[in-house]
Amino acid sequence: MASVDFRNVTKSFGNFTAVSDVSFSIGDGEFVCLLGPSGCGKTTSLRMIAGLETPTSGQIQIGGEDVTHLHPKDRQISMVFQDYALYPHMNLADNIAYPLKVRGEAVARRHARAKEVADVLKIGHLMDRLPSQISGGQQQRTSLARALVYPSKVYLFDEPLSNLDAKLRLEARGFLNHLQRDMGMTAVYVTHDQAEAMALATRIAVMDQGRIVQYASPIEIYRRPATTFVANFVGNPPMNLVEVTGTQGDGQLRLVAGGLTLGGLPMSDTIGAALAAGEKLTLGIRPEHLSIAEPGAANTITGTLFANENMGPESLVTIERADATRLTARIFTDDHLDLGETVTLAFAAEHLHLFDGAGKRIPA
Ligand code: ATP
Repeated sequence: MASVDFRNVTKSFGNFTAVSDVSFSIGDGEFVCLLGPSGCGKTTSLRMIAGLETPTSGQIQIGGEDVTHLHPKDRQISMVFQDYALYPHMNLADNIAYPLKVRGEAVARRHARAKEVADVLKIGHLMDRLPSQISGGQQQRTSLARALVYPSKVYLFDEPLSNLDAKLRLEARGFLNHLQRDMGMTAVYVTHDQAEAMALATRIAVMDQGRIVQYASPIEIYRRPATTFVANFVGNPPMNLVEVTGTQGDGQLRLVAGGLTLGGLPMSDTIGAALAAGEKLTLGIRPEHLSIAEPGAANTITGTLFANENMGPESLVTIERADATRLTARIFTDDHLDLGETVTLAFAAEHLHLFDGAGKRIPA
């Protein structure tokens, strides 16, 4: 296993910059997810680790060694692709053993090793089948087995679960989590699915427009998103964001928006500076930190019921405010609510997030 380092890595295609001056380090044995919307540069970053793309500038190191211009086959990396990339004319045994074949291992040895890995992945009984004769989940495990059959310094995954149905996807996610913690492998995993990143990663690098906007543990990213972009991208349903006007009085902060007045919040120099600059602030509230309250209670926000979605253990209650913006609450209740009914949602001040005019988190 080995660490991976990006040092001021930029990748341009013509005059378009896909990855822009990215620097970060992935520790030995870490599972790092590159998370972000389509086109933000995740796959390009992964392909640069693999050696399938060369940085325009900057350096990539694996295990402290500069590999920026090293051929892919000399990097000791394994990659699992979104479409599995299995050889259709080879049975599972030959597909899985392929990396050992190209490295010159004898037939008996490579088939024994392939069977060992396949057994761990619970596909050992399918070794004679062709890829077309097994299910999508089994194909996914076959591509995983092929990646694991030969010891690598770093394992790279490019959205490997995206072709599976919802149930298989959850099962495979749990399996990958177990496997990585069990093997202690260094893994870099590209996804645009925030739940997958939260479940798998030791650290998440959230990317936007070719840059890393936050690099931290899943819980840190969830609890203290660095920007409104991260707050909105991580969490399902996402964090509610409300534009507010802030005023300062008696050393305390007061926030006002349609249907919302919040007073008695602690001031800080950063908030003071944002207010002095006339910036609009953004208030963030996670859906699970909202609850239904009586009208007129303190720290509440009101609107009319837009939707009430029963999810089984909980309901997602969405209200629409007078300015047509919506807030969603995750509520554990069976109460009946009628569309258009006035609903008041309450929140505790300690669960609020505050962002400045540029969308950057204002520390509490
Ligand atoms: P997705 O989730 O859709 O795969 P991504 O975050 O992985 O997106 P990349 O595939 O890294 O994004 O692409 C980043 C940007 O670079 C995109 O705008 C893409 O169109 C562009 N790009 C990627 N490869 C090339 C290429 N070979 N030539 C030109 N532009 C490219």
